[in-house]
Amino acid sequence: AEAGTRPRFDNSYARLPERLFARLPPTPVSEPRLLRLNTALAETLGLDPAWLASPAGVAMLAGNLVPPGAEPIAQAYAGHQFGQFNPALGDGRAILLGEVVTPAGERRDIQLKGSGPTPFSRRGDGRAAVGPVLREYIISEAMAGFGIPTTRALAAVATGDFVFREEALPGAVLTRVAASHLRVGTFQYFAARRDQDALRVLVDVAIARHDPAAAEAPKPALALLAGVAARQADLVAQWMLVGFIHGVMNTDNCSISGETIDYGPCAFLDAYHPETVFSSIDVQGRYAYANQPGIAHWNVARLAECLLPLIDENEDAAVAQAQEALAGYAARFGTAWRDGLLRKVGLTAARDGDEGLLQDLLSRMAANEADFTLTFRRLAEAAEGDDDVRALFADPEAFDGWATGWRARLAHEPPGRAAAMRLVNPAYIPRNHLVEEALAAAVQDDLHPFENLLAVVSRPFDTQPGRERYALPPRPDERVTATFC
Ligand code: AMP
Ligand code: MG
Ligand code: MG
Repeated sequence: AEAGTRPRFDNSYARLPERLFARLPPTPVSEPRLLRLNTALAETLGLDPAWLASPAGVAMLAGNLVPPGAEPIAQAYAGHQFGQFNPALGDGRAILLGEVVTPAGERRDIQLKGSGPTPFSRRGDGRAAVGPVLREYIISEAMAGFGIPTTRALAAVATGDFVFREEALPGAVLTRVAASHLRVGTFQYFAARRDQDALRVLVDVAIARHDPAAAEAPKPALALLAGVAARQADLVAQWMLVGFIHGVMNTDNCSISGETIDYGPCAFLDAYHPETVFSSIDVQGRYAYANQPGIAHWNVARLAECLLPLIDENEDAAVAQAQEALAGYAARFGTAWRDGLLRKVGLTAARDGDEGLLQDLLSRMAANEADFTLTFRRLAEAAEGDDDVRALFADPEAFDGWATGWRARLAHEPPGRAAAMRLVNPAYIPRNHLVEEALAAAVQDDLHPFENLLAVVSRPFDTQPGRERYALPPRPDERVTATFC
């Protein structure tokens, strides 16, 4: 007998034309062991945490059991990787078990990542290691804590097998939850094959799942494109406002839903500098912090190219209409970024001179290696008269020089600024040195640092007594300068 209730899958993607995916089960692992189950997320999905934690549940999360109703598939996609087009990527180490419909009526993909080779694996082994799996778990859950659209982590299971990278590492499988796994690259795969029937299917699926209103538009593909552009503009603005650097903004990692997807060598800024890059593979700095808005725009333009034949049979007309749909991107990003920064410094609505005030702060932070997160968090205290923030600047007078104008500007604002600022300026982010520390312990079977960090970053805006260490920037000897995927 089994404890609890099995998930009920409804696999709409597996009912689409067969050339959109490959059917295959996950490859079983030796010794599944649950590292972490996201009980709260399971509940919002309408899944029974007791069943997921049972031997049958853990077997499913490891890929050892495909429950009745799941129809496992690997999805086909292409993508521009660092600007180079690869027409055949696809799920090389992931299997979509199926979709569930939540009690709130939302459809969510349940995908295993690290679940064994697929026809899309190329030279890869189809597997994932404990460290990167827990890294994705913690950072995606922190993003959810910030309120930023993201795929979620439902579970991490150790496999009992080794994966071989530069060294032998313990293996794991992540269960990822997404509004869908449609990417810009999914459209590129079929556009590269001039398969307009498949593109039409994808447009319908994307609209049904992410842009239902676009179905009523005179040109649904054009409305979808505008929707994707708007979601990407909003998403990247939110990343920038918490100092997030995705690290691998390839078109296959650019989600149609507007969720953050694929946590590889991503990282958060400690000291603010717009040119910051952490990813060890991003040697040109293509995906540096300040390049992200332009890259997301470029990615959406690649989607536009795929959709041209569905927008207008006259190519020039299609191009003109697509350009118009994309033209909103820059303004949308600019507004989201400016309004977000205004809120971060405690201002409710823009006035003349505010953009200069914001830019001046960022310039002074960059010149003085001020910690991005703590500067904004301590501005809340500064709004109440405290001056701890100035010590974050190499030259504290650089802060003073800015603060005079800021305080004068704040005087025009309604009361309650500090409390409002604490709701948008996190006290805690998954700082790179804390993440590395937690992963190093987890690989040695000590999950306490991981659990503690996860608990802290899941409530990033709440001051948590006794957790001061998690709010602090790294000491010079703790600084992490490169991340690996
Ligand atoms: P990513 O850089 O994570 O976006 O992955 C790019 C492509 O490489 C995708 O098609 C992945 O499925 C594939 N891939 C990454 N790691 C592996 C692996 N260990 N085995 C097989 N495919 C992989
Ligand atoms: Mg197929
Ligand atoms: Mg990817």
